[in-house]
Amino acid sequence: MQRLLTLCVLCFIAVASFASNATSLDDYLPDDVTYNPDIPTPQQVLGYEVGEWHVRPEQLVRYMEILAEKSDRFSLEVTGYTHERRPLLLLTVTAPENHSNIEQLRDQHLALADPKRKGNPDTAPLVLYMGYSIHGDEPSGSNSALLYAYYLAAAEGEKIERVLKDTIILLDPAYNPDGLARFAQWANQHKSINLVSDTQHREHVQPTPRGRVNHYWFDLNRDWLLLQHPESRARIANFQKWKPNVLTDFHEMGTDSTFFFQPGIPSRKNPNTPDENVRLTQTLAEGHAAALDEQGRLYFTEEAFDDFYVGKGSTYPDVQGAIGILFEQASSRGHAQDSINGLLEFPFTIQNQFTTSLTSMYGAHANKKWFLDYQQRFYDDSMAAAKKADFNGYVVGDETDPARLHEMLNILRQHGVQSYVLTDDLKLNGVTYQADHAAYIPLEQPQYLLIRAMFMNQKSFKDNTFYDVSAWTLPHAFNLNWATYDGRRVKIADQAWQPTTTPNHDLAADAYAYAFEWHHYFAPKTLNRLLQAGIHVRQANQAFTASTSAGDYNFTAGTVVVTKAYQQQDWAEVQQQLAAITAETGVTVHAISSGLTRRGIDLGSRNLAPVKPIQVMMLVGNDANMYEGGEAWYYLDRHVGVPLSMVDTDRFGGVDLSRYTHILMVDGRYSNLSKRDAERLQQWVRDGGVVIGQQNGARWLSQHDILAAEFVNSDEFSKKFPTAGLTFADQDHFYGQRRVAGAIFELELDATHPLTFGYPRATLPVFKDSLNAMVVPEQPFVTVATYRANDPLLAGFAASQNREVLAGKAAIIAHRHGRGRVIAFTDDINFRAFFWGTAKLLSNAIFLADQVTPSLSDEENAAEAAAEAAESAH
Ligand SMILES: [Zn+2]
Repeated sequence: MQRLLTLCVLCFIAVASFASNATSLDDYLPDDVTYNPDIPTPQQVLGYEVGEWHVRPEQLVRYMEILAEKSDRFSLEVTGYTHERRPLLLLTVTAPENHSNIEQLRDQHLALADPKRKGNPDTAPLVLYMGYSIHGDEPSGSNSALLYAYYLAAAEGEKIERVLKDTIILLDPAYNPDGLARFAQWANQHKSINLVSDTQHREHVQPTPRGRVNHYWFDLNRDWLLLQHPESRARIANFQKWKPNVLTDFHEMGTDSTFFFQPGIPSRKNPNTPDENVRLTQTLAEGHAAALDEQGRLYFTEEAFDDFYVGKGSTYPDVQGAIGILFEQASSRGHAQDSINGLLEFPFTIQNQFTTSLTSMYGAHANKKWFLDYQQRFYDDSMAAAKKADFNGYVVGDETDPARLHEMLNILRQHGVQSYVLTDDLKLNGVTYQADHAAYIPLEQPQYLLIRAMFMNQKSFKDNTFYDVSAWTLPHAFNLNWATYDGRRVKIADQAWQPTTTPNHDLAADAYAYAFEWHHYFAPKTLNRLLQAGIHVRQANQAFTASTSAGDYNFTAGTVVVTKAYQQQDWAEVQQQLAAITAETGVTVHAISSGLTRRGIDLGSRNLAPVKPIQVMMLVGNDANMYEGGEAWYYLDRHVGVPLSMVDTDRFGGVDLSRYTHILMVDGRYSNLSKRDAERLQQWVRDGGVVIGQQNGARWLSQHDILAAEFVNSDEFSKKFPTAGLTFADQDHFYGQRRVAGAIFELELDATHPLTFGYPRATLPVFKDSLNAMVVPEQPFVTVATYRANDPLLAGFAASQNREVLAGKAAIIAHRHGRGRVIAFTDDINFRAFFWGTAKLLSNAIFLADQVTPSLSDEENAAEAAAEAAESAH
């Protein structure tokens, strides 16, 4: 049987190689070592040579499992699962004798990163984190991991054995298995025997969602710091468990390019990255260059690619005593593609990634002492810098919502940063940080530089050209109060903060009604669960004070009330379900004893209207922004529990819109929507639908007379930038100045507007990556939020000219249109899923849309006022 199988594999190869001229294993492998014949080659397991087909994650896992079985240098763990339940593998590769005392070796290594311990750089092992293809449609990385794993298992002789003796290699063959699977399927399903290199061929042009992103269409190479996805959480746990000296991040770039490795542009590194980091990177670069020179291959360094945002794989290690290295290979994106350099074939791209995997390993090993010594000095220096900083720590807090605070503390914890809950109130800059509702993050801890990077709110930079975000200040993202603290007498818990589960509390059995406030991040999820369970729920559009089982309580506008009245189910059953749902969401429920309140509206008031169940649809497709669509999907699915219908724009004309209560249009061109589609959407709104537009989705609504607001004309911005006297060489700088690549702005909210219910303050940090803004309409009551009138920038880079135009412009507008509502956001309110502060605006737009009463049409307003008067007449 075995022989038959081998024969069959051989004949298959013969046919395939006839067409695609596959590179053989011998072509890939260096011949300065010998190879153990007992180690199965990738071809023996996959049935094809590396590069002939795109490896699927399941095959990659199988090959790694076989190597772990056959090689005493390998051990394998599953450290987590992707959203699609694919295992996340970590292989620990080292000399066989090291495996028996691996924990001791890890401890010796970790001592270097702990300023309180005296680690020994002469004896501690070097740790390398070799990771591949965080973008699934940049697959040369993960495909080269097959070769690298084979090499690690099979290579024999002094050269490799010395490395394995001194080094622990953590091999993470696929950073993004779900994306890799999506692209492998796409590339393989379109492969012909006669490879099609035409760039317009379907194989080379992916539809939405592309293989780049994970299950929810997120770029995982932006999530290293934010940790909103299981892939990132598992990876960072491995990183913090081992604190490697080098981390590799293998990518692909445009087909017409060559090959890139760091160091990149010196001025684009994060200011917290030490200069010595660049010198170590340069040392490794010499090794990559030498190997590629020998093979006669082109490459470049010190150009392109930001190394500023610490939430990227090649930057995250740089502020933690390690070296992150970005590799970018020109992409064949498929099996072969024409390029300006000629035909680019998949095996060629794999070869470069494999070659530089080896040079990274050998280069780091040759400089082992330097890397280890650097790591130790990095942490000692960090601690010394922390002691010298002009304050002692950060205080963060919010007394209205534990969820946002806890999620931020949980992110810090996963990065090895300790926070301590305040045990006493602390007043700073006029804000009282309440005991139990605020935390203190002392600077004097080993992760000092990472802490500074996470709280960074810099506004001026040496180099103002940003291709990615220039700000990600975590307490702004979570809309928390925060301040630096330079005293010594802060009263904090003895133990660092740890996540806990909410205790299941019993609800008072004889209540007249139950209520929970809208402040909590998971209040919308709680409301939605109740609606899904068929429970009658009402929501207040005014504040009131009611008698509860714990005394009088002041409920703010937006409070959700579950009354005994109007329930279809037994009251005891409603109580049980409410208890179960709130135990899961962590929302605090109050038991109200009477419908007659102490102050404000009574529970039978018209201002406490029933909430209707929702059916939300989002338009998606190649003409809508993939990331923003993914973010909205993720938020509604994971944080609100909404089963979101997604409809491609080119099918819009044929779908039954009457099924939906809300339609969401994130950023996009929406070029597939016809004039007839726009008219249909408008009629649906007039009939009572709620349409929510974000960024250019909102602009589309404005252009099609559905949103009655105007976007600020782009000339307003461009005329602020004089062009006289510019030279050709000024281009990059000129456009860099004009762009807002990603900064944090401050919104001023109309705190009485229903769409801001549950917000603790009248200001709100928002992420901004465009010049979108709306002219404030003359009509009152429709502008929900504006950019702060007095310089709206909170953190990051935005040219003063752009800030001047944006100041005071409208960012959120909401109005009636017939019986329906139109709600427009000029920004991405769910940015990368970590802007929990603004994310809830989407829930407000969904659940509180009915409370948006003003129309931009005087006739509609007059009719509404007349109806209101009739209702109140007696
Ligand atoms: Zn990439």
